[in-house]
Amino acid sequence: MIDRIVNTGAPVEDPVEIELEVSLRPRDFASYTGQERLKQNLKLAIEAARKRDEPMDHVLLYGPPGLGKTTMASVIAYEMGAQIRITSGPAIERAGDLASLLTNLQDGDILFIDEIHRLNRSVEEVLYSAMEDFKLDIMIGKGPSARSLRLDLPKFTIIGATTRVGALAGPLRDRFGHIHRLEFYKPDEIRQIIQRAAGILNVKIDRPAAEELATRARLTPRIANRLLKRVRDYADVNGDGIIDTVISTQALQLLEIDELGLDPTDRMLLRTIIDNYNGGPVGVETLVALTAEERSTIEDFIEPYLMQIGLLERTPRGRKVTPKTYRHLGRPQPDEPVPSLL
Ligand code: ADP
Repeated sequence: MIDRIVNTGAPVEDPVEIELEVSLRPRDFASYTGQERLKQNLKLAIEAARKRDEPMDHVLLYGPPGLGKTTMASVIAYEMGAQIRITSGPAIERAGDLASLLTNLQDGDILFIDEIHRLNRSVEEVLYSAMEDFKLDIMIGKGPSARSLRLDLPKFTIIGATTRVGALAGPLRDRFGHIHRLEFYKPDEIRQIIQRAAGILNVKIDRPAAEELATRARLTPRIANRLLKRVRDYADVNGDGIIDTVISTQALQLLEIDELGLDPTDRMLLRTIIDNYNGGPVGVETLVALTAEERSTIEDFIEPYLMQIGLLERTPRGRKVTPKTYRHLGRPQPDEPVPSLL
C-alpha cells in the first residue's frame, strides 16, 4: 500500500513516531476530547463496578481506525486504577498463547485485544468460557489419554477493539456487556485535539490554522496529529516555525490534501467512478482494482469517511457517488448540460 499521510494505520515502527503517539495519547476522560455519549456510558459502568468492587464487564469498541479505541482502553484502565495488557487478535496464534496471557493476569486487570475479529476459531473458543465464567478449559495430552482440565482464572476485563464488528462471531459478540461504536469527531473537537497536541509538542499554531487543519483531518484524531506534524515540518523549513493559515494552506497543498481532507487516491477513485462508471454503482472489487488498496482498507477506512461526508453511498448494487461528489470534483452533474467551450 502506498504510504499516504491520511493512512490511519498504526504508526510505522519508528521509535520517534511511537514516542510522539504515546505522549499525545490522552490519559483520562478529562483529556479525551469528544465521544461524549461513549464517555458517559463508560463513566457510569466504571463507577458501578468500583462501587461493587468488581471488575468491569467486558467492553467491545468498534469503528474506523484512528478514532481512539486503543486510547479509550487505556483511559478506562487509568480510571479504573487497573493494569492493562495490550495484545492483538493476530498475535494470539494458538489457544496456548491465550492461556498463558490469561493465567498471568491478576484480579481486576484489563486485557486489551486489538483487531479482535482476527482471532482464530480455536482461540476464540477458549476465550468464550474465560469471558463467561473466568474458567479456562484446556486439553492435556492427545489421543485416548487426553483429558480436559478446568482452571480458575482471575476476574479480568477484556476490552476488544475492531474496525469490523460484522466479522465478529455471534457468540463472541454476545459475551461483551458493553458494545460501543466510536463516531467520527466534529470539526471543532478535532480543532481542540490539534491545539492540545500543539501544546504538548510545543508547536505554535494560530486558531484559524488549527481550524483549517481540522476540516482536512478526516474527522480522525490520528490524522489530525499526523497533519499537525507534517505542517510543523513545513513551517520549520519555510517559515519561522509558526503555523498560520498561509503556512498551513501551502503545506496542505504540497501534501495534496484538499478542503475535505481527500488525498489523490480518494479523488482518483471518485473521478473514475464518475468518468468510467457513470457515477456507479460499482462493486467493491472494482474499487480494489482501481486503487491497488486492500479491500479491508477500502471498506474500513476509505469508504466510512467518504460516506460520512456524503461523497459516496453504499447501495445493494454497489457504491455510488452523489451530487456533492460531482460538485466537489468540478464535474458536471449527469443531467446538467456540459458547458460549451465556445
Ligand atoms: P484506534 O485504536 O481507534 O485506531 P488510537 O486510540 O490509536 O485509535 O488513536 C490514535 C491517536 O489519536 C492516539 O495516539 C491519540 O493521540 C489520538 N487520539 C485518539 N482519540 C483521541 C481523543 N479523543 N482526544 C485526543 N486525542 C486522541
